[in-house]
Amino acid sequence: MQELGHWIDGRRVAGRSGRFAEVWNPATGEVQARVALAAKDELDAAVASAAAAQPKWAATNPQRRARVMMEFVRLLNRDMDKLAEALSREHGKTLPDAKGDVQRGLEVIEFCIGAPHLLKGEFTDAAGPGIDMYSMRQPLGVVAGITPFNFPAMIPMWKMGPALACGNAFILKPSERDPSVPLMLAELLQEAGLPDGVLQVVNGDKEAVDAILDNRTIAAVGFVGSTPIAEYIYARGCAAGKRVQCFGGAKNHMIIMPDADMDQAADALVGAGYGAAGERCMAISVAVPVGEATADRLIEKLVPRIEKLKVGPYTAGTDVDYGPLVTAAARERVIGLITSGVEQGAELVMDGRNFRLQGYENGFFVGPTLFDRATPEMEIYRQEIFGPVLTTVRAKTYEEALRLAMDHEYGNGTAIFTRDGDTARDFAHRVNIGMVGINVPIPVPLAYYTFGGWKKSGFGDLNQHGPDAFRFYTRTKTVTARWPSGLKEGGEFHFRAME
Ligand code: NAD
Repeated sequence: MQELGHWIDGRRVAGRSGRFAEVWNPATGEVQARVALAAKDELDAAVASAAAAQPKWAATNPQRRARVMMEFVRLLNRDMDKLAEALSREHGKTLPDAKGDVQRGLEVIEFCIGAPHLLKGEFTDAAGPGIDMYSMRQPLGVVAGITPFNFPAMIPMWKMGPALACGNAFILKPSERDPSVPLMLAELLQEAGLPDGVLQVVNGDKEAVDAILDNRTIAAVGFVGSTPIAEYIYARGCAAGKRVQCFGGAKNHMIIMPDADMDQAADALVGAGYGAAGERCMAISVAVPVGEATADRLIEKLVPRIEKLKVGPYTAGTDVDYGPLVTAAARERVIGLITSGVEQGAELVMDGRNFRLQGYENGFFVGPTLFDRATPEMEIYRQEIFGPVLTTVRAKTYEEALRLAMDHEYGNGTAIFTRDGDTARDFAHRVNIGMVGINVPIPVPLAYYTFGGWKKSGFGDLNQHGPDAFRFYTRTKTVTARWPSGLKEGGEFHFRAME
């Protein structure tokens, strides 16, 4: 069986802890590899050699560091198909979706090519008599990123791109569910010219994460994953004096106003609710139609569209809309939540629990599931399901719909579908959620804006990618300078007349 280790000092190395996790092919339900889980001493050794490599990388001028990013972009495009195939094989998402995963990471690397500009400091000439003042952005040293299974290319790149472009060394602890692509990214960065040791990929589980939190050399930690782990890492990392930003779970509401284009809204909901089997932090998992008539029309439009969805393995290429869940445990959890929705009284319009695919009976598939008339106390509304389940909560008024989104503990993304500019504007202004779509179901900001949720979806002061990432991965030093007057005071510039 294939064994995946770590990427240390510019090469693949085997794990030494003797502990492993199984890596599944979610479409077939078979174990296809095992990945090493690092022990504390392995993590500490990776950090020590990263710390040794970092000063030279930081001293490399930002333009040269940016050129590594430029070459990395070229290599990502060159290997797009290979990366997407490895990604789909371990994650289960469709090939077009896997390419999107790589693409959205690549775009942040493109943004990082602007590092020389983004790292410029400020300067005030003559801040006082003979005094100049200037600020500079300096790297933190060794920083770490801990990333989730659902975007194994995009999120590692969101972290490593800005961190490296700023002159840091980076320790990546990817998800143990789909570790192949992060290792491939490290190989490509080496080919692009990144010096060995500056990027270390250490596979592992809680033990490696705790070792990151306890390591005194690591100055900052960026995390993306579920909210309970985000809270744990944020609290422990901050207590250890590190700079920490953690992005957590979500329950994204889409509000459908009576004046919305109902076909457009239904199309958007199907893509945003079921795409990637709902395993996206920006998936729409709650539909909130305003008014009974709107709700009835919406359900009527949704059902035939959902019935047409094609669920299958990534090997079906573009002939499939979404794939399996990542593990058998994830499938069991989603099925359990669907059952709880039925028991708690929601109306199950479409039931995906018994979905079976011929030839893939052991795959981790769940069919598309639709609930109507759910209420805020139900588990299917309160919890992030992270599966192909769309839950409808009917609201009587716009204010009630807005309140629902605002009262939910998560605040990652939201959307409103309406033809009325005034309602859309009011919604965007008042809602307490980090990313808002207006007639756009998945409002993921582009690389040159920042990405981050509010409430229990984000912990820390700065967002991911865009200008915030360059702030997170640098610290500001401010210099006040006065130079005593030199020779010019007493200098002689003319021939003196003979005395
Ligand atoms: P997860 O929290 O289980 O794992 C994330 C990372 O934490 C992994 O690297 C994992 O190895 C590590 N980890 C897991 N358990 C740990 C523990 N007990 N102690 C220390 N570390 C631990 O999340 P996941 O299932 O991989 O990813 C899905 C979650 O990520 C969803 O909740 C989703 O909403 C969220 N997510 C959020 C964003 C965002 O930007 N807000 C983006 C993508 C995914």
